[in-house]
Amino acid sequence: MFRKVLIANRGEIAVRIIRACHELGIKAVAAYSEADRDSLAVRLADEAVCIGPPAPAKSYLNAPALISAALISDCDAIHPGYGFLSENPYFAESCRECGITFIGPSADSIKRMGDKALAKQAMREAGIPLVPGTDSPLASVDEAEAIARDIGYPVLLKAVAGGGGRGMRVVQTPDELARAYATARAEAEAAFGRGDLYMEKYLPVVRHVEIQVLGDQHGHAIHLGERDCSLQRRHQKVVEEGPSPALTEELRQRMGATALKGVAEIGYYNAGTMEFLLDTEGNYYFMEMNTRLQVEHPVTEWLTGLDLVRWQLLIAAGERLTLDQNAVKIRGHAIECRINAEDAARDFMPSAGTVDLYLPPSGPGVRVDSHLYSGYRTPTNYDSMLAKIIVWDADRQRAIKRMTRALSECVISGITTTLPFQLELMQTPEFISGNIATHTLADIMART
Ligand code: ADP
Repeated sequence: MFRKVLIANRGEIAVRIIRACHELGIKAVAAYSEADRDSLAVRLADEAVCIGPPAPAKSYLNAPALISAALISDCDAIHPGYGFLSENPYFAESCRECGITFIGPSADSIKRMGDKALAKQAMREAGIPLVPGTDSPLASVDEAEAIARDIGYPVLLKAVAGGGGRGMRVVQTPDELARAYATARAEAEAAFGRGDLYMEKYLPVVRHVEIQVLGDQHGHAIHLGERDCSLQRRHQKVVEEGPSPALTEELRQRMGATALKGVAEIGYYNAGTMEFLLDTEGNYYFMEMNTRLQVEHPVTEWLTGLDLVRWQLLIAAGERLTLDQNAVKIRGHAIECRINAEDAARDFMPSAGTVDLYLPPSGPGVRVDSHLYSGYRTPTNYDSMLAKIIVWDADRQRAIKRMTRALSECVISGITTTLPFQLELMQTPEFISGNIATHTLADIMART
């Protein structure tokens, strides 16, 4: 097992990883930017190393600074968290070359799944159903027009290097295509340094259902059931839950088996997520694989009783996954609400400042993953997520009531947050009914 792990991330996920390290008796070193000097991660870690100025490109995306920090603090492994360098194959490879274990899959797996067009090719070879469309980058707007004619409108333009819903455009009619192509390319170029696009048929009424997988380096892999992340705003997740109200046990096992086929195809190990779109007839289509820990991993932790970060550390250290598929039991219902520093009443305008008072909810079945404390000043350079509130209860209706209770208890004063927005959402007939799709949140917001 590792002696000391560098956490190449910030915010709640850095805190989450430090906790897992400490429970395994591993020392944790927080890599922090100048804007995060007073962060909770720095307080909780055994050591902390400043890796540069606030701008992500100069700190949390600065691979040489992170690797140097790991070397000087004598770490034998790096945990990348999510976002930042977690899905950068060159970073994973550089760690290996410097004799530091990257806590995640192989650089090759990251590379194959990170290019979404290549990922679709690999999954096609594994016989996994895909959303109709291209699985190589579009050469020109003319080619895009020809393919769109072929698969039929509406279509979706997506960035080959995509993530976080950026570089994505729905195109309803042929006359919108050329403009959408240009803007999506420009957005992808700016966000990812690569403007290549691919095209899919746009499926208007679908759920986002993803399967969590865990595999070791000895060829053994299992799936841990699904999370339903259909409540989205601008293609970004707002609420996640499990089990999905739309899945039968039979469909769960079928989707799980499909996910494991994908894992076997690329020899994937560590934690990963296969994302699918599920239509109203029970057909599902592979969308992409995330080769890292997900923001919403606590949902699966509640349902299965497994600690995913602990398993990430054990697997990266070469240990065997000592669980068989039939040992995985999904119990009860879990819901996660993301709390962001945003003003929902003003088109989710970012809010910043000092948190005067922070009183997280607790009590039975409530977990809060957050880096907040009273007096914390939020830096403006990073993602706006402040906390994740995750609840568990015996069934979905009770979990909704528990989440409502938890959200009402939570106090974050001094800055505007999405707490009231989430509280309202929990009380909408749509969410309560469980009959939700990726367009549902937009419908709710248009109504209110
Ligand atoms: P990103 O990696 O940028 O987050 P994803 O491929 O995961 O992009 O897609 C994000 C969301 O966009 C999905 O959860 C879904 O709501 C929507 N989406 C993606 N592809 C399609 C499609 N072909 N049809 C309808 N919705 C889609």
